[in-house]
Formats: sequence, C-alpha cells, structure tokens
Amino acid sequence: NLTDKLDKAFHILKGHGKITDVNVADTLKEVRRALLDADVNFKIAKDFTTRVKEKAIGENVLTTLQPGQLMVKIVKDELTELMGGDAEGVNLSGNPSVILMSGLQGSGKTTFSGKLANFLKTKKNKKPLLVACDIYRPAAINQLHVVGEQIGVEVYSEPENKNPVEIAQNAIKHAKSNGFNVVIVDTAGRLAVDEEMMNEIANVHKAIQPQETLFVVDSMTGQDAVNTAKAFNDRLNFDGVILTKLDGDTRGGAAISIKSVVNKPIKFIGTGEKMEAIDVFYPSRMADRILGMGDVVSLVERAQEQYDEEEARKLQKKIAKNEFGFDDFLSQIQQIKKMGNMKDLVGMIPGAGKALKDVEIEDDAFKHVEAIIYSMTPEERSKPTIIDSKRKIRIAKGSGTKVEQVNQLMKQFDQMGKMMKMMQGGAGKNLMRAMGGGM
Ligand code: GDP
Ligand code: MG
Repeated sequence: NLTDKLDKAFHILKGHGKITDVNVADTLKEVRRALLDADVNFKIAKDFTTRVKEKAIGENVLTTLQPGQLMVKIVKDELTELMGGDAEGVNLSGNPSVILMSGLQGSGKTTFSGKLANFLKTKKNKKPLLVACDIYRPAAINQLHVVGEQIGVEVYSEPENKNPVEIAQNAIKHAKSNGFNVVIVDTAGRLAVDEEMMNEIANVHKAIQPQETLFVVDSMTGQDAVNTAKAFNDRLNFDGVILTKLDGDTRGGAAISIKSVVNKPIKFIGTGEKMEAIDVFYPSRMADRILGMGDVVSLVERAQEQYDEEEARKLQKKIAKNEFGFDDFLSQIQQIKKMGNMKDLVGMIPGAGKALKDVEIEDDAFKHVEAIIYSMTPEERSKPTIIDSKRKIRIAKGSGTKVEQVNQLMKQFDQMGKMMKMMQGGAGKNLMRAMGGGM
C-alpha cells in the first residue's frame, strides 16, 4: 500500500541518517512513484512533489538538525492540503433534508446509512427516516430493518414495489406527514458500474432532488475507486465522499486519488461494522494515517541512531589505528552540537570533567573551530602532523582567525586524541559511544 511505498521512500534516509540534496531528490522521486502507484494523476503527483521540494528548499531542510522529520512534516502538510479543507458535514437545510446514498454493492451504503442516521439522531438531535430502495434483494431490505431496530430509527420500505423512484417519493411524503426531518435513502448497487444501475440512481436522484448526494466507497478498493468515483460523479455530480472500511490495516490512499479526480470533499469515514464506527473526516488525521506517521517518524529516528552507532564504531577503529583526523574532529563537534549542551554532557562523564576543563566550551568557540578546520586541505585534515607554521598562517588567514587560535585548536585536538586513546578499553568504550552516538 501507499504507506509501505512511502516507508520505502523514507528508507532512503536510513542508509545515510542524514538528508543530502541527492537523497532529497531520491526521496521525492519515491514519493511521486508512490502517488502514481496509488493512481494519483501524473500531473497532480508531479505538482505535489514540486511543492514539497520548493518547501524543503525554502525551509532549508538540509541545514536543520532533524531533516528527516522536517521532510515528513512537509510531505504531511502537503498531503493534508491535497485531501482538502475542513470537515464539512452534510447539508441539513431541507425540510425534510433528503440524503441519497450511492456506490457499488458491498461498499457499505446500508451500514453507513444506519451510522449516519444514528449520528444525526444522537449528535444533531434529528429525527431521521431510513428508506430501503434496494429492490433487488429482499435480504437488503431486511438488513436495513435490522440496522434501524439497532439504533431505534424507523425504516420505510415497500417490499412488493419494484420501482425505487416511487418508493423514495412515497417515503418523503411519509416523512413530511410524520415529522421526520431527515430522509436517508439507501439504494441498490452493482458489483461494477453498469448503465442500468447508473440510470436507476440517476432517475431517483432527479425525482427526489436530494440536498445531499453521497458517494460511498470501500477504501480498500484502491485503483478502481477512482474510476468508480468518476463514473458516479459524472452522472450524479455528488456532494461528498464517504470512505468506509478504514479500520484495520487500510491506510486509505484512495482518499488522495478520489479527492484529486472528482474534487469533492470527503465527509465521513467508516471504521468498523458497528453503528458507532463513524468519524468526521479530518484531512490531517488522514495524512497521518496514509503516512503511517508514527512509523515513519520512528523509522527516521532509528535511522539516525543507527547512523550514530556506526559512526562511533568507525571512530573507535580510527583511533586504534592512529587515523583520527580533523574531519573526525569536525563530525564529533557536529555530534556534540546536536546533543545540546556540552558542559552537561561532560558533567555526566565520570572523571572526564577535569580532563576537559581547559577546553573552552561555548557555541562561539565551535564557530572558530569549524572555520579553521574548513580552511584545512583534506590532506591536512587526515594527517594533522604535516601542519607546520607556514600552513598554520595560511589556515588562520583562510578562516579569519589568529595563528594562536589555530595553535590552540591543534593542542585541543591533540589532547582529545590522547584522551580518546586512553579511554579505549573498558568504561572508555561507553564514553566513545556517547561521544559518537548522539546519546
Ligand atoms: P452495501 O452493499 O453498499 O449496502 O454494503 P453493506 O453496508 O451491506 O456493507 C458490506 C459489508 O461491509 C458488510 O459486511 C458490512 O458489515 C461491512 N462494512 C461496512 N462498513 C464497514 C466499515 O466501516 N468497516 C468494516 N470493517 N466493515 C464494514
Ligand atoms: Mg446495501
């Protein structure tokens, strides 16, 4: 499903732990592929990723501490927007307000009719009437009666009448003379779109002029949902979409596709077989669901941890082999900055507080340190011993610092290297992990 695909998209982050502009592009490509696979129109998917990319650039994703999470947030916000505005509810301005259900057989029309009646009765203080216009299966009429009994709502049916238009019209008359202010018309569906069904529901629609025509769709149908939605919308110009069966593992990628193709609001979702399993549709919650937000965020976090642990391991090896250089020093500084307050950290290391007392620990100090290291050549970074006084002058100039500052850094670097080496065994290993591993 879509979430798996998006997971895969964010999986690209996993290998790196950090976002680079290369894997932003890769991630977006995957997101686009995921949308295309979910039958989102090519142009919509392309526009979507373009907007995400623009936002990612605008918000400087690459320079933030947690680029993965910011990317997830941007994707989520855009998804939310794509799925449309605020929850709208149904139009109840009529007297009575007539609501017509449409959709394929098995999509959940009868169940949802009951849920909506119950919702309007208990939450909106309405007096609804349910109408059985599924004339083909006696069991269907019976099913609606069972539902009606469950929620204490009257069901109107004419088991002998084979004309759904007449039944619907009679039901509305019945509602008017008996004080019902909402009429919910449940109709027959087919397993697939066909002309007969379309003509039948179009005739009912024309005859009763409902305030609200709802298209009910099983969120597990995916690809076909789009075509079905389009076919019904072409004939009925419906007012809203109901996504059913959003319980269990279904992630509801259909929501994006349908919304994109017919541009009608999704109004309610069904989340189970019980009459209470109805929810107003909230785009941002749906975006969470589609993205499997929790999953993706923890995945990104785990990726980060994994990356850090790996770094720590590499670092240990380098120190053991005397290969610890300024590049490593730089990445240590970046790790430390990420961890927050260095003094707090140092305080947590038994015995290390003293050893590091001379090291000036301020954010500003890092700035100079970084500038100095950036002014070194790659060779100088990996083999600091070649940095003689001539090179020091050049480095100081290049970084806008003084030679004394370069000297000081060289000294600190030396101390740090020695200390790390000293701590290689035993408890030192944990410290290494802490230093390299983002705590
Ligand atoms: P209809 O043919 O469109 O009237 O569909 P039904 O209302 O008869 O529903 C078909 C099947 O789907 C029934 O077994 C329902 O219990 C089930 N169903 C409907 N809505 C939901 C839902 O939101 N979640 C789950 N799990 N099942 C549902
Ligand atoms: Mg039915």
